[in-house]
Amino acid sequence: MIPEGETVRFLCECADAECLASVEVKPHQWKAVAAQADHFLIVPGHMRSEGEDVVGSLGRYEIVRKPDRRD
Ligand SMILES: [Zn+2]
Repeated sequence: MIPEGETVRFLCECADAECLASVEVKPHQWKAVAAQADHFLIVPGHMRSEGEDVVGSLGRYEIVRKPDRRD
């Protein structure tokens, strides 16, 4: 268990497959983002795929939503 209040590093999930940056947030914050379908965290200013929108922010990071993929 990670004590509440501690931050954890997650990889930046921007569109650059070789991006090695990380975001550092509290576990419950990350879970709140991950709980929403197609939402993820990136470092501000990082590459976004076409159709991806910034829908909010978390600390100094951006919350991005991937476009719906309904074929
Ligand atoms: Zn990135």
